[in-house]
Amino acid sequence: SPLVKKQQKIPVALYGGRHAVTMLPGSGIGPELMAYVRDVFRYAGAPVDFETININPNTDESDDLIHAITSIKRNGVAIKGNIETKSEDTEVQSRNVAIRNELDLFINVLNCKSYPGVKCRQSNIDIVIIRQNTEGEYAMLEHESVHGVVESMKIVTQSNSERVARWAFEYAKRHGRKKVTIVHKANIMKLSDGLFLETSRRIAKEYPEIEHNDMIIDNCCMQLVSNPHQFDVMIMTNLYGSIVSNVICGLIGGAGLLSGRNYGDHYAVFEPGTRNTGTAIAGKNIANPIAMLNASVDMLEHLGHQQHADMIQQAIVKTICEDNIQTPDLGGHHSSSDVVQRVIDHIVHSDRTW
Ligand code: ATP
Repeated sequence: SPLVKKQQKIPVALYGGRHAVTMLPGSGIGPELMAYVRDVFRYAGAPVDFETININPNTDESDDLIHAITSIKRNGVAIKGNIETKSEDTEVQSRNVAIRNELDLFINVLNCKSYPGVKCRQSNIDIVIIRQNTEGEYAMLEHESVHGVVESMKIVTQSNSERVARWAFEYAKRHGRKKVTIVHKANIMKLSDGLFLETSRRIAKEYPEIEHNDMIIDNCCMQLVSNPHQFDVMIMTNLYGSIVSNVICGLIGGAGLLSGRNYGDHYAVFEPGTRNTGTAIAGKNIANPIAMLNASVDMLEHLGHQQHADMIQQAIVKTICEDNIQTPDLGGHHSSSDVVQRVIDHIVHSDRTW
């Protein structure tokens, strides 16, 4: 279908098969994690050149943001840390949301797959969260109608609900997934979540080979903690997606492990799955570098550099699952640079038959 073709469209490589990619280090632990990505790419010989753009969190000016968006539009692909907006001015909007909206990155995908060697609350989890990424509660349309009364608009459109559902069922089909669960609160938000639910159910009918069910968000959170193995692919609106992503990450190893992918029809942005800033742990050499390294692996796969992606992925798995070189968030006692050094050692010693 035309949709599948669009999803697979990747930017054309430059000279020598290299790709230019926008790098937005962001705030907190973002810059140190990006330095690790650069180190790992250097040893892996990954054919990628980064165009780094720093966004000043202390200014209300949008120049940096415009520069970043222009760069992503030119390169087609970005890797990013979380960008902070320090302004107290309520008119200044989140730059993370602004980037996603401007690039129409309507899908966020989080592959939540357990790492066998990581001690955590639930094992053998393999869930894919597909989240509407540009509207819902993140519409940023808030105002004080009269003193002491604030209204906040949640926007749900049929067109976005439809393309999220279709994306999810296409994903399920292509990856041999069995079931899609639609997550909602349509018993209370009858119009907005009702539209999302109704649209998803309608699209589900086009995929009779894939089972589907629906679940109310609060029950869903309970089920995730008590019986997560019932879930396969899940689709939901924006805020539920953020919460469910954090719940599942909490179950299988925390904020430092998984990566998330943002897609639109034209651009792709890769980042750590739970989008944390990690201000309190910045500069201490304790942040887990794996989530950002996984984001870089996702990016290499997207660009078609599968062998480099596999090499880095295998080095990550050996480091944390076999060698047990883990940062404190995973219960280990190693520093960020110990983890990265071991990943690099594995890369240096890997068989390159290509
Ligand atoms: P801030 O947004 O100001 O950094 P926060 O308390 O909201 O503060 P988050 O950045 O959202 O913190 O992160 C949530 C938690 O996850 C924090 O305890 C943070 O230290 C932890 N965390 C986030 N990323 C990592 C990482 N890469 N490695 C280890 N811990 C992490």
